[in-house]
Amino acid sequence: MRKKIVAGNWKMNMDLADGLKFAETINDYFISKPTRTGVILCTPFIHLAGVSEILKNGKVSPGAQNCASEPSGAYTGEISAQMIKSTGARYVIIGHSERRTYYHEDDKLLNKKTLLAISTGLEVIFCCGEVLKERESGNHFEVVKKQLDDGLFTVPSEEFKKITIAYEPVWAIGTGLTATPDQAQEMHKYIRGLVRDKYGTEIADDLTILYGGSCKPSNASEIFSKPDVDGGLIGGASLKKEDFCAIVEAV
Ligand code: PEP
Repeated sequence: MRKKIVAGNWKMNMDLADGLKFAETINDYFISKPTRTGVILCTPFIHLAGVSEILKNGKVSPGAQNCASEPSGAYTGEISAQMIKSTGARYVIIGHSERRTYYHEDDKLLNKKTLLAISTGLEVIFCCGEVLKERESGNHFEVVKKQLDDGLFTVPSEEFKKITIAYEPVWAIGTGLTATPDQAQEMHKYIRGLVRDKYGTEIADDLTILYGGSCKPSNASEIFSKPDVDGGLIGGASLKKEDFCAIVEAV
Protein backbone atom coordinates (compact mmCIF):
# COMPACT_ATOMS: atom_id res chain seq x y z
CA MET A 1 0.00 0.00 0.00
CA ARG A 2 1.45 3.35 -0.93
CA LYS A 3 1.64 6.05 1.70
CA LYS A 4 -0.85 8.92 1.82
CA ILE A 5 0.77 12.24 2.63
CA VAL A 6 -0.28 15.83 3.25
CA ALA A 7 2.65 18.26 3.32
CA GLY A 8 2.29 21.90 4.31
CA ASN A 9 4.54 24.38 2.55
CA TRP A 10 4.75 27.49 4.73
CA LYS A 11 6.75 29.33 2.05
CA MET A 12 8.20 32.62 3.45
CA ASN A 13 5.62 33.12 6.17
CA MET A 14 5.66 33.48 9.96
CA ASP A 15 8.46 34.78 12.18
CA LEU A 16 10.29 32.38 14.47
CA ALA A 17 7.96 32.69 17.46
CA ASP A 18 4.77 32.39 15.40
CA GLY A 19 6.15 29.43 13.45
CA LEU A 20 7.14 27.49 16.57
CA LYS A 21 3.78 28.21 18.18
CA PHE A 22 1.98 27.03 15.06
CA ALA A 23 4.07 23.84 14.83
CA GLU A 24 3.18 23.10 18.43
CA THR A 25 -0.52 23.55 17.68
CA ILE A 26 -0.34 21.15 14.72
CA ASN A 27 1.74 18.66 16.68
CA ASP A 28 -0.73 18.68 19.60
CA TYR A 29 -3.66 18.24 17.23
CA PHE A 30 -2.27 15.09 15.63
CA ILE A 31 -1.26 13.64 18.99
CA SER A 32 -4.85 14.01 20.17
CA LYS A 33 -6.30 12.91 16.80
CA PRO A 34 -3.87 10.39 15.29
CA THR A 35 -4.04 9.80 11.56
CA ARG A 36 -2.57 7.19 9.25
CA THR A 37 -1.80 9.94 6.73
CA GLY A 38 1.79 11.15 6.82
CA VAL A 39 1.76 14.81 7.84
CA ILE A 40 4.74 17.00 6.98
CA LEU A 41 5.52 20.64 7.76
CA CYS A 42 7.97 22.24 5.32
CA THR A 43 9.13 25.36 7.09
CA PRO A 44 11.58 28.17 6.37
CA PHE A 45 15.14 27.29 7.37
CA ILE A 46 15.13 29.47 10.49
CA HIS A 47 12.30 27.42 11.99
CA LEU A 48 13.62 24.01 11.14
CA ALA A 49 15.69 23.10 14.21
CA GLY A 50 13.03 24.39 16.61
CA VAL A 51 10.17 22.74 14.72
CA SER A 52 12.09 19.43 14.55
CA GLU A 53 12.52 19.55 18.32
CA ILE A 54 8.78 20.21 18.83
CA LEU A 55 7.77 17.42 16.43
CA LYS A 56 10.29 14.93 17.84
CA ASN A 57 7.82 13.00 19.94
CA GLY A 58 4.77 13.41 17.74
CA LYS A 59 3.38 12.11 14.47
CA VAL A 60 4.27 15.02 12.21
CA SER A 61 7.53 15.18 10.22
CA PRO A 62 9.62 18.27 9.55
CA GLY A 63 10.91 19.26 6.11
CA ALA A 64 12.71 22.08 4.31
CA GLN A 65 11.60 23.91 1.17
CA ASN A 66 14.90 23.89 -0.72
CA CYS A 67 18.56 22.95 -0.34
CA ALA A 68 21.86 23.95 -1.89
CA SER A 69 23.22 22.11 -4.92
CA GLU A 70 26.70 21.90 -3.37
CA PRO A 71 27.55 19.88 -0.27
CA SER A 72 29.49 22.62 1.58
CA GLY A 73 31.90 25.50 1.12
CA ALA A 74 31.98 29.13 0.07
CA TYR A 75 28.35 29.59 -1.00
CA THR A 76 27.20 32.60 1.00
CA GLY A 77 23.59 32.42 2.03
CA GLU A 78 23.05 28.79 1.04
CA ILE A 79 21.88 25.94 3.29
CA SER A 80 23.20 22.46 2.59
CA ALA A 81 21.35 19.16 2.66
CA GLN A 82 23.61 18.06 5.51
CA MET A 83 22.69 21.15 7.55
CA ILE A 84 19.02 20.39 6.98
CA LYS A 85 19.53 16.78 8.00
CA SER A 86 21.37 17.89 11.15
CA THR A 87 18.27 19.80 12.35
CA GLY A 88 16.32 16.55 12.48
CA ALA A 89 14.36 17.33 9.33
CA ARG A 90 13.35 14.33 7.22
CA TYR A 91 12.13 15.86 3.96
CA VAL A 92 13.09 18.55 1.48
CA ILE A 93 10.98 20.03 -1.32
CA ILE A 94 12.95 20.32 -4.56
CA GLY A 95 11.82 22.00 -7.77
CA HIS A 96 8.91 24.04 -6.44
CA SER A 97 7.63 26.26 -9.25
CA GLU A 98 8.48 29.37 -7.24
CA ARG A 99 12.14 28.22 -7.20
CA ARG A 100 12.00 27.38 -10.90
CA THR A 101 10.42 30.74 -11.80
CA TYR A 102 11.93 33.33 -9.43
CA TYR A 103 15.36 31.74 -8.92
CA HIS A 104 15.70 30.21 -12.39
CA GLU A 105 16.36 26.72 -11.09
CA ASP A 106 16.52 24.43 -14.09
CA ASP A 107 16.18 20.66 -14.40
CA LYS A 108 19.94 20.10 -14.35
CA LEU A 109 20.37 22.01 -11.09
CA LEU A 110 17.33 20.34 -9.55
CA ASN A 111 18.73 16.96 -10.47
CA LYS A 112 21.98 17.81 -8.68
CA LYS A 113 20.05 18.93 -5.59
CA THR A 114 17.90 15.81 -5.64
CA LEU A 115 20.83 13.40 -5.83
CA LEU A 116 22.68 15.28 -3.11
CA ALA A 117 19.65 15.40 -0.80
CA ILE A 118 19.09 11.68 -1.20
CA SER A 119 22.71 10.76 -0.63
CA THR A 120 22.53 12.85 2.55
CA GLY A 121 19.64 10.76 3.82
CA LEU A 122 16.80 13.19 3.18
CA GLU A 123 13.57 12.25 1.44
CA VAL A 124 12.66 14.44 -1.52
CA ILE A 125 9.32 15.91 -2.50
CA PHE A 126 10.03 16.61 -6.17
CA CYS A 127 7.69 19.15 -7.77
CA CYS A 128 6.68 19.29 -11.41
CA GLY A 129 3.94 21.03 -13.34
CA GLU A 130 3.14 23.14 -16.35
CA VAL A 131 2.34 26.84 -16.70
CA LEU A 132 -1.00 27.98 -18.11
CA LYS A 133 0.32 28.60 -21.62
CA GLU A 134 1.70 25.07 -21.78
CA ARG A 135 -1.62 23.58 -20.71
CA GLU A 136 -3.57 25.74 -23.14
CA SER A 137 -1.33 24.67 -25.99
CA GLY A 138 -1.73 21.02 -25.01
CA ASN A 139 1.96 20.59 -24.07
CA HIS A 140 1.44 19.81 -20.38
CA PHE A 141 2.31 16.10 -20.62
CA GLU A 142 5.46 16.82 -22.58
CA VAL A 143 6.55 19.52 -20.09
CA VAL A 144 6.07 17.28 -17.07
CA LYS A 145 7.84 14.39 -18.80
CA LYS A 146 10.88 16.55 -19.48
CA GLN A 147 10.97 17.82 -15.88
CA LEU A 148 10.96 14.24 -14.62
CA ASP A 149 13.34 12.85 -17.24
CA ASP A 150 15.93 15.58 -16.67
CA GLY A 151 15.36 16.39 -12.99
CA LEU A 152 14.48 13.12 -11.34
CA PHE A 153 14.96 9.99 -13.37
CA THR A 154 18.68 9.69 -12.69
CA VAL A 155 17.83 8.61 -9.14
CA PRO A 156 18.84 4.95 -8.87
CA SER A 157 15.99 2.43 -8.40
CA GLU A 158 17.16 1.40 -4.95
CA GLU A 159 16.82 5.03 -3.77
CA PHE A 160 13.47 5.77 -5.41
CA LYS A 161 11.57 4.93 -2.24
CA LYS A 162 12.91 8.24 -0.87
CA ILE A 163 10.99 10.13 -3.57
CA THR A 164 7.53 11.64 -3.44
CA ILE A 165 6.36 13.49 -6.55
CA ALA A 166 4.15 16.56 -6.28
CA TYR A 167 2.22 17.51 -9.41
CA GLU A 168 1.52 21.21 -9.12
CA PRO A 169 0.05 22.93 -12.18
CA VAL A 170 1.65 26.35 -11.87
CA TRP A 171 -1.56 28.09 -12.93
CA ALA A 172 -3.25 26.67 -9.82
CA ILE A 173 -0.64 27.63 -7.21
CA GLY A 174 -1.83 30.46 -5.00
CA THR A 175 -4.33 31.58 -7.64
CA GLY A 176 -7.54 30.10 -6.27
CA LEU A 177 -7.83 28.09 -9.51
CA THR A 178 -7.68 24.34 -8.99
CA ALA A 179 -7.19 21.54 -11.46
CA THR A 180 -10.40 19.55 -11.71
CA PRO A 181 -10.21 16.14 -10.03
CA ASP A 182 -10.19 14.61 -13.54
CA GLN A 183 -7.34 16.83 -14.71
CA ALA A 184 -5.34 15.88 -11.58
CA GLN A 185 -6.08 12.18 -12.03
CA GLU A 186 -5.17 12.27 -15.71
CA MET A 187 -1.75 13.78 -14.99
CA HIS A 188 -1.06 11.63 -11.91
CA LYS A 189 -1.85 8.50 -13.91
CA TYR A 190 0.46 9.71 -16.67
CA ILE A 191 3.27 10.37 -14.15
CA ARG A 192 2.83 6.94 -12.59
CA GLY A 193 3.03 5.46 -16.08
CA LEU A 194 6.33 7.26 -16.72
CA VAL A 195 7.71 5.92 -13.45
CA ARG A 196 6.48 2.43 -14.39
CA ASP A 197 8.25 2.64 -17.77
CA LYS A 198 11.47 3.76 -16.12
CA TYR A 199 11.51 1.85 -12.80
CA GLY A 200 8.96 -0.94 -13.10
CA THR A 201 5.53 -1.70 -11.70
CA GLU A 202 6.42 -2.25 -8.06
CA ILE A 203 8.17 1.12 -7.65
CA ALA A 204 5.43 2.91 -9.61
CA ASP A 205 2.67 1.36 -7.52
CA ASP A 206 4.44 2.31 -4.28
CA LEU A 207 5.10 5.90 -5.33
CA THR A 208 3.17 8.64 -3.52
CA ILE A 209 2.04 11.38 -5.92
CA LEU A 210 0.70 14.56 -4.34
CA TYR A 211 -1.49 17.19 -5.92
CA GLY A 212 -0.74 20.86 -5.22
CA GLY A 213 -2.53 24.01 -6.28
CA SER A 214 -5.14 25.91 -4.25
CA CYS A 215 -6.17 22.82 -2.32
CA LYS A 216 -8.68 23.67 0.42
CA PRO A 217 -11.06 21.79 2.70
CA SER A 218 -13.88 22.39 0.22
CA ASN A 219 -12.15 20.68 -2.73
CA ALA A 220 -9.69 18.29 -1.07
CA SER A 221 -11.96 15.24 -0.67
CA GLU A 222 -12.97 15.20 -4.32
CA ILE A 223 -9.40 15.53 -5.58
CA PHE A 224 -8.03 12.98 -3.08
CA SER A 225 -10.73 10.48 -4.03
CA LYS A 226 -9.02 9.90 -7.37
CA PRO A 227 -7.07 6.64 -7.52
CA ASP A 228 -3.68 8.11 -8.45
CA VAL A 229 -3.86 11.11 -6.10
CA ASP A 230 -2.20 10.15 -2.82
CA GLY A 231 -2.54 13.41 -0.92
CA GLY A 232 -1.52 17.03 -1.29
CA LEU A 233 1.18 19.65 -1.11
CA ILE A 234 -0.57 22.56 0.52
CA GLY A 235 0.56 26.20 0.45
CA GLY A 236 -1.85 28.89 1.64
CA ALA A 237 -4.21 26.56 3.49
CA SER A 238 -1.31 25.06 5.48
CA LEU A 239 -1.05 28.33 7.42
CA LYS A 240 -4.48 27.90 9.01
CA LYS A 241 -4.82 25.12 11.55
CA GLU A 242 -8.49 24.36 10.81
CA ASP A 243 -7.95 24.25 7.05
CA PHE A 244 -4.76 22.21 7.17
CA CYS A 245 -6.17 19.66 9.61
CA ALA A 246 -9.39 19.38 7.60
CA ILE A 247 -7.34 18.70 4.45
CA VAL A 248 -5.40 15.95 6.26
CA GLU A 249 -8.69 14.47 7.38
CA ALA A 250 -10.00 14.58 3.80
CA VAL A 251 -7.41 12.02 2.69
C1 PEP B 1 2.38 25.24 -3.01
O1 PEP B 1 2.99 26.21 -2.59
O2 PEP B 1 2.99 24.19 -3.24
C2 PEP B 1 0.93 25.35 -3.21
C3 PEP B 1 0.27 24.33 -3.70
O3 PEP B 1 0.36 26.54 -2.87
P1 PEP B 1 -1.22 26.83 -2.73
O4 PEP B 1 -1.82 25.71 -1.98
O5 PEP B 1 -1.29 28.13 -1.97
O6 PEP B 1 -1.76 26.96 -4.11
